[in-house]
Amino acid sequence: MGIHVLDSRTIDRIAAGEVVERPASVVKELVENAIDAGSTAITVEAKEGGIEFIRVTDNGCGIERDQLPTAFLRHATSKIEDADDLNHIASLGFRGEALSSIAAVSRVEIITKRKENLTGTRMVLEGAREQSIDEIGAPDGTTFLMRNLFFNTPVRRKFLKQPATEGSYITDLMEHLALSRPDISFKFVLGNQTRFHTSGNGDLREVIYRIYGREIAAELVPVQIEENGIKVEGYLGKPVLVRSNRNFEIYFINGRFIRSGVIAKAIEEGYKQYLMQHKFPLCVLHITMDTETVDVNVHPSKMDVRFSDGMAFARMLSEKITITLRNREMIPDASLEDEKAIQKKEQEER
Ligand code: ADP
Ligand code: MG
Repeated sequence: MGIHVLDSRTIDRIAAGEVVERPASVVKELVENAIDAGSTAITVEAKEGGIEFIRVTDNGCGIERDQLPTAFLRHATSKIEDADDLNHIASLGFRGEALSSIAAVSRVEIITKRKENLTGTRMVLEGAREQSIDEIGAPDGTTFLMRNLFFNTPVRRKFLKQPATEGSYITDLMEHLALSRPDISFKFVLGNQTRFHTSGNGDLREVIYRIYGREIAAELVPVQIEENGIKVEGYLGKPVLVRSNRNFEIYFINGRFIRSGVIAKAIEEGYKQYLMQHKFPLCVLHITMDTETVDVNVHPSKMDVRFSDGMAFARMLSEKITITLRNREMIPDASLEDEKAIQKKEQEER
């Protein structure tokens, strides 16, 4: 075989391997798109662990009909113009790889409408091939339906885990997404069960309550730090909420859920005098910093980041956590009132 450049469908399918590893990666990309579209309410439904069916409905800006086919092309994005923009990314997406990758390995239907238009558009794709595109009546926003993940790449499909396990990955992801944006109402339905529904009223403690339940929501210490242009806001679980792994050390940088050895270590250092070895705290922290001091352009899954001055940040964070926890010991309990308020609200909504 002579040397030749692969055709775009083959390239897309190879690239899809990087972006779409499993159903949870599809959900992540679709929800991030919904968030970037300015949605205030997002519903995610998944069946068979998301392998057979994922539907994400948002009330965001929608996509213009003549742009819809373009959105499914590789490296097609509305979020950055050029390389300079990479230095100050404010959106969750920017690579323009998600829709093309998902469409390459599944059956996709998208219905989308912009507010200023009277009608919407419905487009159907199979293995990235456009099957149809029609005008259709639709609510404002976008509904994205994916079926039969990896139907055309059986080897990859074989490597998926049982639906229950894939479903649990989606659940973890959805929890993090809901915690990342208390100002957005998230509804998550797995199988036939609504797993949680957040109100979108901006109250992080309420989101924690809806996701982790009353016992945990009652044992939180608010934290608020502002130093050197870095802001940290959220809740520290009291040491009684001790966990046996790091999964509940949850932190977001500029709205993005990440995992970082530097931050994990700083948090654990901050809790050091309160926790035994090999025990881990629960916390939910929203960290805001200048987009120029943190690099999110590290990996397609975008879970890792690089800091320009990680050490100084880590030192500051662990000190403040220690101080917050220490002060906490001296103040009486205020959380009972908060909890009553949440319960009351929940009853009203029933
Ligand atoms: P990226 O998010 O990196 O830009 P995607 O492939 O995920 O790339 O999406 C391509 C483009 O399609 C986006 O830049 C955006 O303009 C549009 N888009 C995707 N999903 C939505 C949505 N839910 N609402 C509005 N526009 C969307
Ligand atoms: Mg995207």
